[in-house]
Amino acid sequence: MTLKRFEALNWASSFLSKHGRDANIGEILLCHRLGLTRTELLVDIRESLKKEDEIWFKDGVIQHVKTGEPVQYMTGTETFYGRTFHVSPAVLIPRPETEELIEWVKNWANLYFPHKKELSVCDIGTGSGAIAITLALEKPEWHVSTVDLSADAIKVAKDNAKNLHATVDFYEGSFLQPLIDHHKKVDILVSNPPYISKEGMQSLQDVVKDHEPHLALSGGEDGLDAYRCILKEVRQIMKDQLLIGFEIGYDQGEAIQNLIKQTFDQQIEALKVMKDINGNDRVALAFVRSV
Ligand code: GLN
Repeated sequence: MTLKRFEALNWASSFLSKHGRDANIGEILLCHRLGLTRTELLVDIRESLKKEDEIWFKDGVIQHVKTGEPVQYMTGTETFYGRTFHVSPAVLIPRPETEELIEWVKNWANLYFPHKKELSVCDIGTGSGAIAITLALEKPEWHVSTVDLSADAIKVAKDNAKNLHATVDFYEGSFLQPLIDHHKKVDILVSNPPYISKEGMQSLQDVVKDHEPHLALSGGEDGLDAYRCILKEVRQIMKDQLLIGFEIGYDQGEAIQNLIKQTFDQQIEALKVMKDINGNDRVALAFVRSV
């Protein structure tokens, strides 16, 4: 006799809670295994599992408790902006907060480029490609290029672009260098670079610190190194005007505004820090001119 879905889920949630893990992980794993949405899983909650699914499920829950590996790396997927992205330990797991960056960039692009449809966009440090691919799909008339230092991350991102039928140009390299080398000029620059400070890295949750790539998290002593590198070179890739959209750390709003002011001074037309749903600084937006 195999377990029914609800019996397996009850076992998983009490086992997970007992070991201090998120009790919902059972549901996520079982949905993934059976290829069902949460609603589909729950509608037929009394259905018996196949033996091989039950074994896979129990092993998965036990493995998660043992290793603390994020469930997204176990299933190899995460949803971002309503689409399923493939993820591996080579890339940061896309976060819901980053969806807010997409919203703001779409908004400001409408506001500051009201008559220009074919905009050229770059995403610096793309990881899974979540930002670049989402923008390419949301705005099919935009030309999206993206850069990452990690060849393994680019493989994941290319795979996602292919599966989701998005057209994005990929460059391997450091910050803006590949774009400079290819004489690329853009209207919009977006980035969710590594921004955790040295101190912040020490207090990260284990599930993040032990499993996600530090290359995508650690932003040097004060967490701002990546922004400095990008802003140092940004004039070389901008057209007459540039919209910048950065994801930033919860307390970095003022510091980022200062860095942007140091770079563009009188040429800033708009500069704002937006808070996320938790009331933390999350997105910095700027619209600047080259002269
Ligand atoms: N938001 C991520 C975290 O808190 C950090 C992402 C980043 O450094 N870009 O884990």
